[in-house]
Amino acid sequence: MEQANSYNYLNGKIILSKKASILTNDRGFLYGDGLYETIRIHQGKPFLWKWHMTRLIAGAEIIGLKLPLTSSKLLEELKNLIQKNNSSNCIARLTITRGPGERGYDFTGDETPTSLVSLHEIPPIEKKAISLSITNIRVATGDILTTIKSNNKLGSIMAKRFAKEKNTDDGLIINSDGNITETSSANIFYIKDGILRTPPINDGVLPGVTRRLTLGLASSLGLAVKEESIAPKKLEQANAIFVTSAVAGIRNVRQIEDTKFPKNQLVNQLQKAYNEELSKHTTLAAKSTGS
Ligand code: PLP
Repeated sequence: MEQANSYNYLNGKIILSKKASILTNDRGFLYGDGLYETIRIHQGKPFLWKWHMTRLIAGAEIIGLKLPLTSSKLLEELKNLIQKNNSSNCIARLTITRGPGERGYDFTGDETPTSLVSLHEIPPIEKKAISLSITNIRVATGDILTTIKSNNKLGSIMAKRFAKEKNTDDGLIINSDGNITETSSANIFYIKDGILRTPPINDGVLPGVTRRLTLGLASSLGLAVKEESIAPKKLEQANAIFVTSAVAGIRNVRQIEDTKFPKNQLVNQLQKAYNEELSKHTTLAAKSTGS
């Protein structure tokens, strides 16, 4: 019997993943020279598709990567893959590298990019709130590379390992000004005095699609929103903290280092609103949330 999600899309073809191969001089493999998107597929449709594409296109412009497919072609290929794998609720990973090239960092711009799409089970996200540690991983404030979803994720890998060694669920990455940016794989928010706060992108933050959705949902719930730098000390006074990602949605944080945080009604409301958006996007045509 075939395993779940055993088919991949690779460079124009749907093939068994065990038959898929990438050349040894692919710059994505050698240098992390590429981009990716991790997308929640709900009832056969990618959630927040347009926003994922906006980020992918922005990233491609920044690194000078010519995307080999338009977003509508990519969507068509993704839908075919979802059908082929018979997998309507899953996580899709789209990876586009600059493709095979000469040794050395320079590129000609004539490389043929490699495009790969794979589907994965949604990880069992426990309902319980998570714990975070403050890692020794640093990014530079204003670093443009933190704003793109590049294939180079060593910072996140190290932050996750740090967190695991501290027996915590994830780790916070700090910028060169000493402020909190995000966790290894999610954006961070906190509520204080009835205001929802999150670090600005320029602090060294990935512009998460779920962050974007959450900011919009908060405004429509009448919650004031502020993008401001977060010194670790500020978090100690938070009324509630949560993290957001396409894979896990909105997750409560129960503890950072020794400080514990209570559950908060406003976070429940945001989670509810998020779930409603997720259900709605399958029934509605494209709308403001980029579905
Ligand atoms: N920050 C980092 C470093 C991430 O890797 C991710 C997602 O993988 C996020 C934030 C959340 O982004 P999104 O909501 O687009 O999944």
